[in-house]
Amino acid sequence: MAPVAREPGGRPPAPSVRPVPPVRPDLKALTGYHSAQVEVEVRLNTNESPLPPPPEWFEAFRSGLGSIDFNRYPDRDAWELRRAVADSHGVRTEQIFCANGSNEVLQSLLLAYGGPQRTAALFEPTYTLHRHIARITGTQVAAGHRTDEFLLDLDEVKRVLEAHDPVITFLCSPNNPTGRADPIELVEAVLAMAPGLVVVDEAYGQFAPSSAVDTVRGGAAGSERLAVVRTFSKTWSMAGMRLGYLIAAPEVVEACEMVALPYHLDAAKQLAGRLAVDFVPEMEARVAMVIEERGRIAAALAALPVDTWPSDANFILFRPTGSEAAAVWADLLEASVLVRDCSQWPGLAGCLRVTVGLPHENDRFLAALTESLR
Ligand code: PMP
Repeated sequence: MAPVAREPGGRPPAPSVRPVPPVRPDLKALTGYHSAQVEVEVRLNTNESPLPPPPEWFEAFRSGLGSIDFNRYPDRDAWELRRAVADSHGVRTEQIFCANGSNEVLQSLLLAYGGPQRTAALFEPTYTLHRHIARITGTQVAAGHRTDEFLLDLDEVKRVLEAHDPVITFLCSPNNPTGRADPIELVEAVLAMAPGLVVVDEAYGQFAPSSAVDTVRGGAAGSERLAVVRTFSKTWSMAGMRLGYLIAAPEVVEACEMVALPYHLDAAKQLAGRLAVDFVPEMEARVAMVIEERGRIAAALAALPVDTWPSDANFILFRPTGSEAAAVWADLLEASVLVRDCSQWPGLAGCLRVTVGLPHENDRFLAALTESLR
């Protein structure tokens, strides 16, 4: 430990004048990941579900809360929650790890497998937290590029994997913020090439035509290196509960458990998630509503001076062609409609992202956008 500097006369300085130590030098360059949280009438910036969970879920949750021993720590292994999630996917309980949002699942994977002298690969533009959490955990980042249409290019994937030998290769399907899902053949081709784990972030997986969960469940050679991350924050209408999970080989689940803090999942959250998976038809009805509205927004955008890209998720990326993104964002805010300004993210100059909301919210967005672009 460095000796405490002494004042003339030999006395150590008073505790109040000792400075706070500097943060880790490698964190200095990082900026946080924040989406504006301002009061607006139409909130379409963070890809949440526009609807609360079904009333029957609330009823079951309220009555379940009465049976929790609040003076006791919760089940450390979250066994019942993991079993319910495992059953919903047709996998074994040992293949599920749960955490406080899928961001914490990503952090657990990087704590367990990343760190100094290790590299995570990703393909930009993609979910910015993959890079951010890698950096926080001291993991080096090797960033490849997507095509002009924001798709994965296997030659580029091969180049990055051969050059950097990553311990984790991140895919994001559907990709946030660009919207397209990767066909399962493409995910499996990346898995065949990757030297380490392939982590497929399926936060929006319920909107996509295929899922890497099927490959994990199938158990073919190599599938033990495939890990799928899912969340209750989007289609399950539970962003406020902070619950996400991993579907992977038991060995990968055990590695995540090694870095999780004891009792990190509180009892109410375990109950909430366990009950949620009983409401699959309600969840699927919401997905259908969002897909229909997404089609309506896409059709309206096609008639406006903006570039757009096809989406397999609950949001649409668009780029005004004759106006500054920041000015359009501000006009929308003026009309009390909040969207995401992605224009400073790598590879997304001029782009904004709108989350699909309820029909009347989408109408407000389209009217305000039309007015701004006029
Ligand atoms: N992955 C992706 C691709 C996301 O878009 C998000 C939410 N923005 C998350 C993970 C994190 O979701 P949560 O922590 O709420 O589960």
